[in-house]
Amino acid sequence: MIEWSEEDLMIRDAVRGWIDAEVRPNLDALESGDLPPYDLLRNMYKTFGMDEMARSSFHARLAKEKQGGADGAEERSGGGAAMTMLPVIELCKVAPGLVSAMGVGLGLAAGTIMKRGTPEQKERWALPLLTMEKVGAWAITEPNSGSDAFGGMQATARKVGDEYVLNGSKTFITNGPYADTIVFYCKLDDGDRSPAPAHHPSSEEPRSASADPRDREILTFVLDRGMEGLEQSRPLRKMGLHSSPTGELFLNDVRAGADRLLASGTQGGKESAKQNFVTERAGVAAMALGVIEECLKLSVEYAKTRELWGQRIGDFQLIQLKLAKMEVARLNVQNLVFRHIEMQRAGRAMTLAEASAMKLYAAQAASEVAQEAVQLFGGNGYMSEYRVEQLARDAKSFQIYAGTDEIQVTHIARDLLSR
Ligand SMILES: Cc1cc2nc3c(=O)[nH]c(=O)nc-3n(C[C@H](O)[C@H](O)[C@H](O)COP(=O)(O)OP(=O)(O)OC[C@H]3O[C@@H](n4cnc5c(N)ncnc54)[C@H](O)[C@@H]3O)c2cc1C
Repeated sequence: MIEWSEEDLMIRDAVRGWIDAEVRPNLDALESGDLPPYDLLRNMYKTFGMDEMARSSFHARLAKEKQGGADGAEERSGGGAAMTMLPVIELCKVAPGLVSAMGVGLGLAAGTIMKRGTPEQKERWALPLLTMEKVGAWAITEPNSGSDAFGGMQATARKVGDEYVLNGSKTFITNGPYADTIVFYCKLDDGDRSPAPAHHPSSEEPRSASADPRDREILTFVLDRGMEGLEQSRPLRKMGLHSSPTGELFLNDVRAGADRLLASGTQGGKESAKQNFVTERAGVAAMALGVIEECLKLSVEYAKTRELWGQRIGDFQLIQLKLAKMEVARLNVQNLVFRHIEMQRAGRAMTLAEASAMKLYAAQAASEVAQEAVQLFGGNGYMSEYRVEQLARDAKSFQIYAGTDEIQVTHIARDLLSR
């Protein structure tokens, strides 16, 4: 793939038209946090029939699974990938936070339930997330376990009778304040591993009881807003990405039945969460492309119109260097996105190391391009009226969530050194 097809461009233009009509007029309200992003996203879903498409592909997939077909692995054609990527790219030109809010609910929360849920769990929780009827959150990070997500995880599930009792807190959770459905990761608290109560079949006992809390089994539950003992904080104040509400979760003896527990799969909850990292990291590259394209476009326009010393600033070689570097970044990140689409078309999955390399490069490129755009705009670049200021703050988040730059480096290096 070397360029978008005619059909892709038609989709892109339609999405652009919708963004101009619906998102740009609401940008101030989104940025101030006065307007949560969900109704706008639902509007987009309805406008483009994405809710009905999601519903029918959900039912088709479930029917296939029931017949022993796909085992829940993500199935997408390259054409589908382009159609998913284009709205992401276009939205990120204006409000990258909208994509975070959408991506976490669909890709991570619903994605996890679709990979590991029973048909009943999928119907009950994933479908309303996939159609955007409900808002989803995906909660791993804790105050004391960010990059060391699983080893340092302190949230626990203790089995009491037929239920689990969940405790702990999560932070920096996208959609946390508004989520209807929360995919919650915690560790099995096998306590002193005393014998099971008489009424409790031993087959339901913890499978990998371990003395070292770092190695305890990771369990994943689906929680609903309003459950007793579950508190969702107000949105946290943050540097950027204001159109994506981020919050804390506090669990105090939340009782969850076994119907809320997702299967660990053959590789366990930890490995399955890692599959999400691949999806998330590839998605960040598309987000980065949107920011880069917009910053480059705005910078070229400004370089052609801002005049100093009797000439446009675009005639200064130092400004030209900035524009040229932005174009190099745009080409590279676009190629990464195209490669991702081609891999999906070929039915090939990206390794964690490949997705990490893609994310590391794209996130840094977007952040650098946006910072350079601010510089090119001078004082105007520092003012909110000129949109590069917001994009620079938003792009910084790409280097932190879905694994920091440093963590991407460790994943890439580990793979290289293991060969
Ligand atoms: C806007 C936003 C949205 C988010 N949404 C979600 C969400 O929906 N769900 C969720 O679960 N989490 C979410 N997060 C959390 C995010 O995944 C974490 O912030 C991230 O993984 C980093 O963890 P930390 O903040 O605890 O930093 P820390 O892990 O404390 O890292 C501090 C510094 O140490 C560095 N570091 C850590 N380990 C190493 C190492 N081995 N080698 C070198 N350097 C290292 C880091 O790179 C960083 O520079 C979100 C974060 C943000 C900012």
